[in-house]
Amino acid sequence: MKKIILTFALFLLSIHQTTFAQEKVHKSDAEWKKELTQEQYYILRQKGTEYAFSGEYNKHYKKGIYHCAGCKTPLFKSENKFDSGTGWPSFDRHINSNVGFLEDRKYGMVRTEIICNVCDGHLGHVFPDGPRETTGKRYCVNSASLTFKNAESKK
Ligand SMILES: [Zn+2]
Repeated sequence: MKKIILTFALFLLSIHQTTFAQEKVHKSDAEWKKELTQEQYYILRQKGTEYAFSGEYNKHYKKGIYHCAGCKTPLFKSENKFDSGTGWPSFDRHINSNVGFLEDRKYGMVRTEIICNVCDGHLGHVFPDGPRETTGKRYCVNSASLTFKNAESKK
């Protein structure tokens, strides 16, 4: 019986993966350079960081979805955005499996880097000091790695 349940569980998992796994976007460096602005390229492809309080979405509270500026995958919802006071757009959660996590040991710190799971573009980092009343997580994201779509607009 146990074996049957396990087989069934694996079966469900494989369906889930084939149904929801997004196809990866692979582009050459030259292609990215052509498509992105200089700042988007620096942040998404070279893991840069924009200056605090400089990004267009830091104090942006319209209703809608924040997409990856590189491949347009939906990453964060406006309802999960909060003002962390850090100077970068902050969210307490991401949209399903569209965000990936990597260990980042640069600058003598151990941080968790967040990336777009579809094009591997760098987004920022996630920290454990987010709002306690929700997830306790703070996704600290560069505005330049995002593009916003209003809830009202059709496309
Ligand atoms: Zn992407």
